[in-house]
Amino acid sequence: DDRIVSGHPAPGEPYDRALRPQTLSEFVGQEQAKGNLKIFIDAARARQEALDHVLLFGPPGLGKTTLAQIVARELGVGFRATSGPILAKAGDLAAILTNLEPRDVLFIDEIHRLAPAVEEILYPAMEDHVLDLIIGEGPSARSVRIDLAPFTLVGATTRAGLLATPLRDRFGIPLRLEFYTPAELTRVVMGAARKMGAVLTEDGAMEIASRARGTPRVAGRLLRRVRDFATAEGAASIDKLVAARALARLEIDEVGLDANDRRFLKALIENYGGGPVGMDTLAAAIAEARDAVEDVIEPYLLQQGFIQRTPRGRMACARAYSHLGLTEPPKAPQ
Ligand code: ADP
Repeated sequence: DDRIVSGHPAPGEPYDRALRPQTLSEFVGQEQAKGNLKIFIDAARARQEALDHVLLFGPPGLGKTTLAQIVARELGVGFRATSGPILAKAGDLAAILTNLEPRDVLFIDEIHRLAPAVEEILYPAMEDHVLDLIIGEGPSARSVRIDLAPFTLVGATTRAGLLATPLRDRFGIPLRLEFYTPAELTRVVMGAARKMGAVLTEDGAMEIASRARGTPRVAGRLLRRVRDFATAEGAASIDKLVAARALARLEIDEVGLDANDRRFLKALIENYGGGPVGMDTLAAAIAEARDAVEDVIEPYLLQQGFIQRTPRGRMACARAYSHLGLTEPPKAPQ
């Protein structure tokens, strides 16, 4: 997924560790999640216990990995990161778990993509801090139980509903991350520019923030591209005009929709009369994978009131018609 407005990291994208906020107070927005986390972190610290397991869910690029690192830092413990698809065998996870120090944070990104055999050894590890392993094969196989240090699992997933109920139930602290407001994203962009040494005016930051579809990763990426345009133009600073011109060249419109979003809305309206139509049909109509549409395109269009979900499928809202300059057909009599 290499769209400039995708919340997924692009292959080879600078990891910019230096741009990541390091503490809860530096982490902009997500006030509810942050407020709850702070209370639980302080309590775990005071009792010298491992923090309860945390599940972070929300669209890509909203700060799940960043928040997991901050949790470890605020707890003053070690941090280990891996992801569902990387853990192919039960032994891969066992190797990580047996190397954790007491109260460490283990971050598993895309935890909904764990192999069943891996998920199975995770349950007793989360619940009782033990590993049940089968050693050997056939008649000589035997099971061994290994005690683990108490640890905190921080799992991340795009949608909580992707997790099997028994796994979801083992997280004591489920936290949903929300899209950021333009004001919050403006602070994210200003902070990133400061760390990059880019000269950015407040209205330049607002221009970028208002088109970053509520997502810090997108905001950071737009900032880097806009900065390239500013350099090419020889602009001394990135102001509103410079930013708007660069974003127009990137085909990102004034509400942050890109060509793919507009294709999605057009297909919904022009091919299917505005819906309701099923997601599989729509994804096929724009030649995108259903997963990519559900993770990247749909949540923002829903949140912004361009589309709605009904039991019979997706429907275009009035805002979709007006945004594309189309007239909404009169409502059929009920
Ligand atoms: P996720 O794990 O949800 O996909 P990340 O934690 O990798 O998202 O964050 C994506 C990018 O956005 C990172 O570069 C990170 O520094 C930045 N970022 C995320 N949340 C914030 C925030 N609240 N304040 C500042 N920067 C943020």
